[in-house]
Amino acid sequence: MGNGLKWSEEALKEMEKIPGFVRKMAQRAVEEQVRASGRKEVTAQDVRQGQEKYIKFAEKNEQDKNKIRIAVVRCEIVSEVCPGIACFKAFNARQQQFASYGDNVEMIGFFTCGGCPGRRVSRLVDTLLKYDVDVVHLSSCMMLEEDYPRCPNRAQIKRTIESKGIKVVEGTHH
Ligand code: SF4
Repeated sequence: MGNGLKWSEEALKEMEKIPGFVRKMAQRAVEEQVRASGRKEVTAQDVRQGQEKYIKFAEKNEQDKNKIRIAVVRCEIVSEVCPGIACFKAFNARQQQFASYGDNVEMIGFFTCGGCPGRRVSRLVDTLLKYDVDVVHLSSCMMLEEDYPRCPNRAQIKRTIESKGIKVVEGTHH
């Protein structure tokens, strides 16, 4: 088709079978592959390999588009004694406050509030927004009602996050 490479009749026919939305990318990849191997002609076999690769790529992109991206904000004070094991355990098993998620979810952030009164939350959520975060969980350690350290700022932290258009879920593993 281009760049000095010859396409066999069969290769052109194979190319027509590739969905339009990935055809250009597939064509470029096939040509690069043929050039890298020092050949001058694109064969049907080359196109079939490209097709397989780019259909998988397109499917993955589609899955990524539908993926739910979540993050957890937790208490700076508690983080001194807790590495977050219970939060991750609940997430990995899709239990407690993570029970409603299926497989198409990924945790893209796990951060502390930065200390009272949650001084780091706004900035870090702005960063998460660039990575398309959908939901932020307030960790269970922030939701404790009676035990130390009861968070006096969680309502404000929640409002700060929600004001950026992000859903907030209260809790992780309780
Ligand atoms: S604002 Fe709440 S979550 Fe953050 S350090 Fe203070 S008590 Fe902990």
